Amino acid sequence: MKILFASWELDPFFKFGGLGDVARSLPNALNSSGVDIRTILPFYDVLKLGRSKKIKMGKCSFNYGGKKEVVEVFSLLSPRSKVPVYLLRNKHYLSDALGIDTFAFFNMALIMMIKSNCLHWIPEIIHCNDHHTGFIPLLVKEYKLPIKTMLTIHNLAYQGITSLEVLDKMGIDKSKCPSLRWEIKSRQINFLMEGIIHADLVTTVSPTYAKEIMTEEYGQGLDEVLNGKAGRVFGILNGIDGHVQRASHYKDLRYPYLPLLEGEIIYQKKKQIHPWLEGKALNKLALQKKLKLKVSESMPMLAFIGRLAETQKGLDILHRMLRSMDLNHYQMVILGSGSPNWEERLQWLGKFFPKNVSCNFKFDNVLATQIYASADFIVIPSLFEPCGLIQMIAMFQGTLPVAHKTGGLADSIKDGVNGFLFDAYSAQSLKNTVDKALSIWRNNKSEYKKMVEAAMERDFSWAKSAVKYRELYEKITGKNF
Ligand code: ADP
Repeated sequence: MKILFASWELDPFFKFGGLGDVARSLPNALNSSGVDIRTILPFYDVLKLGRSKKIKMGKCSFNYGGKKEVVEVFSLLSPRSKVPVYLLRNKHYLSDALGIDTFAFFNMALIMMIKSNCLHWIPEIIHCNDHHTGFIPLLVKEYKLPIKTMLTIHNLAYQGITSLEVLDKMGIDKSKCPSLRWEIKSRQINFLMEGIIHADLVTTVSPTYAKEIMTEEYGQGLDEVLNGKAGRVFGILNGIDGHVQRASHYKDLRYPYLPLLEGEIIYQKKKQIHPWLEGKALNKLALQKKLKLKVSESMPMLAFIGRLAETQKGLDILHRMLRSMDLNHYQMVILGSGSPNWEERLQWLGKFFPKNVSCNFKFDNVLATQIYASADFIVIPSLFEPCGLIQMIAMFQGTLPVAHKTGGLADSIKDGVNGFLFDAYSAQSLKNTVDKALSIWRNNKSEYKKMVEAAMERDFSWAKSAVKYRELYEKITGKNF
């Protein structure tokens, strides 16, 4: 089975959000199960290739925007994996990820590279991810390639709606784009909608989100198009890569920990591994010092990690809840970046409670690991969450999530067993649930320990998801591999 996995980001070369993690781990898990899968992305100037050695595979040329453009193809191995990665280089369009037609050009370049057999390898399926690769299914048909396509939606809120100019640049006739019939008023092209319409099969990253996006409430204007694909839309829960999580846990923490048996003492690279309860307490004290918070083991610590997106991540109800609580009695650590509006509003709380609220507006993997390990609870109030990796990483580290019951949060957290879920999207129901969690932490330590141990035992391995993707690859091609 030959699969080309197309993504605009790939950890650790270039990571923007959860898709970067997925693009590293899912192909890796599929590769381990015997699938010949290769990843492809643009060769941005900012790629962090580290010590990975790249080999030039060849080049191809085609017309874009009325000019002949050359694309060079390089191949290398993703660190700690056997998955080949292809990088497409073109200095005009692919050197940064923000250019208006980076993705149109990337989609076109990928098709032309296959057409000219630069890789000496032709995939049976192109697995596209999000709007950045949304034009590939249409281009496969346009160039009559004998290849099936699958589109995975990681977040329906981002659709890649852009000027019609890119169609002219790609040399595609407007009549080929059904999305234009829906976008009549704006006269813009919707990459994600084109992808949904033309792909042989559509998936999204959790079973609950797959149902939610069929409704007007969650469909972001695409529910009718998705309903038109009914029977060909599936939800598969993402996983996390335990090896990668464990490696940064050992590397970035002064006090790594595991759920150890009583009396068990182990070392990892000369560092003592602590039993989880002791390890979490030691890390909390170290983090409080580092962030200049009040240093106290008995102070419950809540955390929020994630993009400060204007609507998705539930910052409105989080902020409202924080304003209504007495912040002298617990600590809130925030790590995220994005909307300046939210940064300013959250920072304001930090100024009033400098010993109990810490705002960190940056992308910082080491600090993220330290927060996951130190906090008692991670708050995930997202209005919608296609899958969410934060809750899985937190549970892996023994930090209980308090989350809105939506999308992948509903599929990965069991309320009262390994975390806490609230139904109604409001500051009040978030507050009630945080109060319940804090009360268990303060007054019922044995229940709290039972829940943490259940969270740490939960299997989020990619192997389970890989089996389901494999089944869908077989379904599209009609072959048993
Ligand atoms: P999304 O893809 O919507 O951004 P996910 O929950 O799927 O959200 O994935 C977010 C990923 O990015 C997680 O691995 C999380 O730890 C990481 N992350 C988010 N914000 C930051 C940050 N400011 N610093 C470090 N890591 C972050």
